[in-house]
Amino acid sequence: MVELDLGRRIRQAVSAFTGKTYVDENAIKELVKELQRTLIVSDVDVKLVLKITKEIEKESLELQKSKDLSIREQVVKIVYDKLVELLGESYEPTIIPKKILLLGLYGSGKTTTAGKLAKFYKSRGLKVGLICADTDRPAAYEQLETLSDRAKVNFYGVKGEKNSIKIVEEGLTKFKGNDVIIVDSSGRSAFDPSLIDEIKQINSILKPDEKILVLSADIGQVAGKQAEQFNEAVDLTGIIVTKADGSAKAGGALSATHSANAKVMFIGTGENIDDFKPYDSKKYVSRLLGFPDLEALIDKVKVLEEEMKIDKNKLMEDKLTMSTFLEQIKAAKKMGPLKEVFSMMGAPDLPKDIVSQGEENMKKFETIISSMTKDERDNPEIIKKQSSRAVRIAKGSGNDLSNVKELMRQFDMINKMMSGFKHDRGMRKKIERMMKSGMKF
Ligand code: GDP
Ligand code: MG
Repeated sequence: MVELDLGRRIRQAVSAFTGKTYVDENAIKELVKELQRTLIVSDVDVKLVLKITKEIEKESLELQKSKDLSIREQVVKIVYDKLVELLGESYEPTIIPKKILLLGLYGSGKTTTAGKLAKFYKSRGLKVGLICADTDRPAAYEQLETLSDRAKVNFYGVKGEKNSIKIVEEGLTKFKGNDVIIVDSSGRSAFDPSLIDEIKQINSILKPDEKILVLSADIGQVAGKQAEQFNEAVDLTGIIVTKADGSAKAGGALSATHSANAKVMFIGTGENIDDFKPYDSKKYVSRLLGFPDLEALIDKVKVLEEEMKIDKNKLMEDKLTMSTFLEQIKAAKKMGPLKEVFSMMGAPDLPKDIVSQGEENMKKFETIISSMTKDERDNPEIIKKQSSRAVRIAKGSGNDLSNVKELMRQFDMINKMMSGFKHDRGMRKKIERMMKSGMKF
């Protein structure tokens, strides 16, 4: 399903962000860029995309630590809120008697929607009548009749009758005593004055409480223009967006109708009569993000953060061994210009030779460490205590004794630096983060 593809991309962008070891300007900018790409692909108007993503970026960068939510959680909340804002307000249907006129272009899903709406109100205890005023399409009558049967609601239509106004008049008489009357009208292939004429006539007879334009999600942001045109002509009370299940452009259609000031009331999510629900932008966004609601989403971010914290603490508690030492230099090297990382963190005595370690040296260190016994790897101080060990390791690994000594020297430096940091909370945090992100590569 394509719509889920939009969801998948948004989910990926958000989880890439929440999975980041630390939230900095880059992490936020990356998230914003990916959101931009995803929304543009789903045919959301580029100006709108830029507007909301700029807001996300600005508000995220201005965030302060709060007692209740971490920065990460707050950013996710901002993204959630902005998406909800982009996709418009939710609709709460009133279960009261009403007359509904459905209009729209060919194939937008009017007739299917008439059946779905009928079932929706019927199953909420209202007596429903469906009127087929589509005198244009040959099979319109049978299609709506079948749907009426399925929804177990009343049906009125006149086979072969070309005068839709007459049918509506008769239907109204016939359906006295019904709570909800739904009229399915003719479509056109494009916005058309003759269609508007017909609708205006039906309008004056039916006096509908709701004039609802049915739009297919696959037209994307064109939905906004269509909503505007119909609204100008007949004063719509709302929109139903169909095929929200099968179109990657649903986001575009929903956001465009919202910015055209048209209220989305229901969405169609499949061909079946039950594939239909009141539009709830919060639920829609939650589903895109893969969570039932914002609360659940925030909880997930919390869990992620806790997991990372545990990991970091474990890293710091672990005594520095030769194996972790080797892992660290490897990880550190992958992080790029480590010198800058260290100096940014304000580390005073940067072990320069460790940073500028050449590949060759790294390989040597690796072979040396693999020649150590487990005991030596876990407690390197015993190598210093017994010089015969260093000689044996050098021989065994095919290295000079001086290489082993160099390795020991660097190990000591890192070890000292690390234990120094253990008493400096700020520095420790920075190192933890750095190590963690290094390890993750
Ligand atoms: P109308 O010409 O506006 O009356 O459109 P129809 O109701 O005849 O629908 C046109 C096509 O769209 C039919 O094949 C429907 O089954 C299909 N359709 C309508 N609504 C939905 C929906 O929400 N999801 C999907 N996947 N198909 C739909
Ligand atoms: Mg139809």
